[in-house]
Amino acid sequence: MSEAMIEVAALQKRFGDNTVLRSVDMKVGRGEVVALIGPSGSGKSTLLRCLNLLVVPDGGAVRMGERRFTFGGGAALPGTQALAKFRAATGMVFQQFNLFPHKTALENVMEGPVVVRRMARGEAETLARELLGKVGLSDKADQYPSRLSGGQKQRVAIARALAMQPEVMLFDEATSALDPELVGEVLAVMQALAAEGMTMVIVTHEVAFARDVADRVVFLRDGIIIEDGPARQVIDAPREEATRAFLSHFH
Ligand code: ADP
Ligand code: MG
Repeated sequence: MSEAMIEVAALQKRFGDNTVLRSVDMKVGRGEVVALIGPSGSGKSTLLRCLNLLVVPDGGAVRMGERRFTFGGGAALPGTQALAKFRAATGMVFQQFNLFPHKTALENVMEGPVVVRRMARGEAETLARELLGKVGLSDKADQYPSRLSGGQKQRVAIARALAMQPEVMLFDEATSALDPELVGEVLAVMQALAAEGMTMVIVTHEVAFARDVADRVVFLRDGIIIEDGPARQVIDAPREEATRAFLSHFH
């Protein structure tokens, strides 16, 4: 792997006396797709949020591109502006879509570029239409979220994240809240992004998707990385008994 795009080292996170991440080391190469799997409560969301410092770690280091922060051991906490810049390099998609209900699909996608990036409205609209096209929703630009299916809402949410022109996309169970028949259309958009070379970290329970689309699969349990390897190897022939036991729930 060439120089990693994201690198975390000896990452630790506690909530009160609950130690959630114990000493996590992980690298994500430029253009690489990493699927993060593991039982509920194992720390997947916390790890994903530490990657863009939405959750501030208690110890260790987080690097994305040129920017690197260390935590604990007396290190000064990053300032608000430094954090905002760091987070702006990532797009995040959550289980809940969190679209603005009183804005159309187009306006939802335009919001970030106009408000945060101070992009001219005309330019933002062009970008937003292009991105709605990319997620297959050109014809829904003027619809309000209440008129969209869950899968369509999630695709708007992906377009909205892409509108900030992130270097990395983070997905936290993006399809878990969807009716089963709508999962495929969202996974297809994620697969297309991966094929374009987007760097992605995907928390998912879609094991078949992880196997087919991810380059690597990382299995997390109790805040520790148990296994990290090529996607097919981890899914089809896990080295660790704990990984095998976890995966057995999906067959
Ligand atoms: P996963 O995404 O794998 O289900 P999480 O990272 O959400 O796991 O949670 C791991 C542990 O951290 C759980 O015990 C959870 O209760 C705890 N936790 C997560 N976020 C917070 C928070 N903001 N405050 C307190 N505890 C939290
Ligand atoms: Mg989670």
